[in-house]
Amino acid sequence: MEKLLKRIGEITSDPYAYVARLKEEKEKRIIGCFPMQVPEEIVHAAGLIPVVIWRGNEAVTWGHSHIPPYYCGIVRSFIDDAVRGKLGFMDGMIFHVRQCLLIMDIPLIIERHVKPEYMKLLYLPPVYPGKATRDFLRSDLELFKKSLEEYTGNTITDDMLKSSIAVYNENRSLLERLYEIRRKKPRILTSAEITKIVWAGMLMQKEDHNELLRDLIPLMEARTVETATTKIKVIPVGCLCQAPPFDVLNMIEDLGMVIPDDDLYVGSRYFANKVNIDDNPIEALAERHLKKTPVCPTKGVWDVLWADDVEEMVKLNNASGVISIHVKFCPPHACYYPDFKSRMIEKGIPEILVQVEHEMLSMEGIKTRLQSFTESLGGNNGEKI
Ligand code: SF4
Repeated sequence: MEKLLKRIGEITSDPYAYVARLKEEKEKRIIGCFPMQVPEEIVHAAGLIPVVIWRGNEAVTWGHSHIPPYYCGIVRSFIDDAVRGKLGFMDGMIFHVRQCLLIMDIPLIIERHVKPEYMKLLYLPPVYPGKATRDFLRSDLELFKKSLEEYTGNTITDDMLKSSIAVYNENRSLLERLYEIRRKKPRILTSAEITKIVWAGMLMQKEDHNELLRDLIPLMEARTVETATTKIKVIPVGCLCQAPPFDVLNMIEDLGMVIPDDDLYVGSRYFANKVNIDDNPIEALAERHLKKTPVCPTKGVWDVLWADDVEEMVKLNNASGVISIHVKFCPPHACYYPDFKSRMIEKGIPEILVQVEHEMLSMEGIKTRLQSFTESLGGNNGEKI
């Protein structure tokens, strides 16, 4: 197990080097997908390797001359990487521009500074009821498929799409299994390790990630873990488009709380909802996008409440509280948060907001908030358990 975790650690500690190496090894073109919700299966079916674009770990420098400081960390970090020439190994890039206003500026900068061979702007509509939304989405996905066919010179048949969907569905099943084990043995791995496993899958060719999970899961099943003496289970929620800072996840656990599950983008949200393989593949991919749960602030869903969704997760895990992780300057999350907060109060679910930023200058403020949250839940405030 340690060997597999070491491999995952190497991939996620330097994604640039890993993805550049992947391109050489597989002799395939790399297509960066700006999170979230890009239907990677279509890229995979075109014989390309889709990788989900990540937030770098260096402070933003030249990027400041292109993008205002009040943009979220992943956008600033990505633009910084682009203008510093760090993304040259990406052959193509796809942006789901309707996801949030901040993404809309990116393609113009990328066009000028990176000039990828292939660039596609997707407009996956908000999840509104009605035929018009469905029709629009299907036609957008068809156009997307066509643009990849023109780029590669190869036709993407329904069978090719279905076999890619099968690979992705298997990945979702394996990650579901990994989360089930974590739910039963929450301290089998740290939350940072779990997050890295999901993140590695966003960077690796999916077949390779499936193989890794097929090796890892039986080892996790076989391993016994001491029962936690703490009763305080918490669910981290939110953190759109990027993995939460590992220091924050570690801090939550160091304070004596246990994380048995999550509602994070680099977490359970990424592998939620399989694609129905029996349907027309484009329609099936559209249906997956139109699913209202897990509720995502970028999808414009208002008739299903995010708080109800999270309440289910709290009950399932017998959790004591929720830690909302908000990426600073993320408008979709900020827009949904007041309603989420007031409904958490109504439901009597203790909840606290932690705001994270690309350049985390000080963790002390977060530590103080988390410490008092642990205490309010009756925790042991960091004593070793
Ligand atoms: S983190 Fe929020 S603001 Fe930033 S790109 Fe994602 S959805 Fe948009």
